[in-house]
Amino acid sequence: MGRKLLLEHINVPGIQTFEVYRQKGGYRAVEKALKSMSPDDVVEEVKKSGLRGRGGAGFPTGMKWSFLAKPEGVPRYLVCNGDESEPGTFKDRYLMTHIPHALIEGMIVSSYALGANTSYIYVRGEMMPQIRILEKAIAEAKAAGFLGKDILGTGYDLELYVQPGGGAYICGEETALLESLEGKRGNPRIKPPFPAVAGLYGCPTVVNNVESIAATVPIVNDGGEEYAKIGIERSTGTKLISASGNINKPGVYEIELGVPVEEFIYSDEYCGGIANGKRLKALVAGGSSVPILPANLISTTIKGEPRLMTYESLADGGFQTGTMMGSGGFIVFDEDQCIVRNTWNFTRFYSHESCGQCSPCREGTGWMENVLYNIETGQGSMEDIDLLWDIQRNIEGNTICPLGDAAAWPVAAAIRHFRDEFEWHITHRDESQQRNYGLAHYADPLEYA
Ligand code: SF4
Repeated sequence: MGRKLLLEHINVPGIQTFEVYRQKGGYRAVEKALKSMSPDDVVEEVKKSGLRGRGGAGFPTGMKWSFLAKPEGVPRYLVCNGDESEPGTFKDRYLMTHIPHALIEGMIVSSYALGANTSYIYVRGEMMPQIRILEKAIAEAKAAGFLGKDILGTGYDLELYVQPGGGAYICGEETALLESLEGKRGNPRIKPPFPAVAGLYGCPTVVNNVESIAATVPIVNDGGEEYAKIGIERSTGTKLISASGNINKPGVYEIELGVPVEEFIYSDEYCGGIANGKRLKALVAGGSSVPILPANLISTTIKGEPRLMTYESLADGGFQTGTMMGSGGFIVFDEDQCIVRNTWNFTRFYSHESCGQCSPCREGTGWMENVLYNIETGQGSMEDIDLLWDIQRNIEGNTICPLGDAAAWPVAAAIRHFRDEFEWHITHRDESQQRNYGLAHYADPLEYA
């Protein structure tokens, strides 16, 4: 069994409440940070820990914090990104539902480190039960003196608010989130300036994912160096993985980074193998936006080394033969899955969620959706495969925010690794038109709680 830092007490009855969370050692990190560490000490420990952002980009959290501008007399903000909407990703929702105080405690410690006196948790609007759970947890923490004025008599003040999201996937992009939090339509901003300089209300702001913020609690409690001992190389600590698709045990798992991918899929501790005794066909390792991996590249990298659940190993070989850790949305496809149909389904999502600001994304995602649908339903031509390739290439890298890339990468990887399936749909028109299966049941965050 790997070490659990975030989900250690997940099965303790009543762990949702302040009282039980506290009995299990909760809020020790707040006491330690506020009473015996300076804000810079906390930043230093997070840097030492090697923690990388758990929302998708994997950028070092301590380094991100150190970019925060500190002009005199200007407030700074910490905003937690709980707008989890990536298909196949439901770990933040799980954490907010079952251990809300881990997030609240992380918010206090992180806000203190950044010098923020007002912080926000922006939660996907559809997650109303989680919003209520967090509001209750905040009220409990405040009543116990861990929020509000002069926390624990240390002179530090912090007000923490929960904000329901604007109802769009794009509001999970950090600058769109800030726009939405300011009460505007959630359109991504052109960068620079980056939020660290001009974020919420034009003030220096850090936006961190739910899991990243919760991870600061064990880092403060045990020290950054201890945290960095878990994991491999630049993939330190533990990671929450949302596992779904054709596996025996879908759910949320906390792993020590470095577990072999094959072990994660087949061991009873985690996914428990492929459902119904089927064979493994492909894997989406980090949410619907990352490149799909075919079976021959899942267990081992192109170099023949074991493929590990780390940022580096999953990305080994670049997009030619690798993928990304992304958000940790782990979707397993068995031999019956149709890659064209699943790619069309993902693309349909991105086309629907494009905010429309930039032409390559607005036009390209809809175009890809239509071409994929034609191929899937036996109405495509061989030229359509090349057309798809051209469209995705013209989207990638040419948009304001990463949604364009997120839409392009899965299409490129599907053609790269499964071109024969695209061709099959074109050469077997009648069978293709009659087929109505092969769509993976990947989980929406709203499905698992
Ligand atoms: Fe909007 Fe898409 Fe452009 Fe992002 S890439 S700003 S979602 S149109």
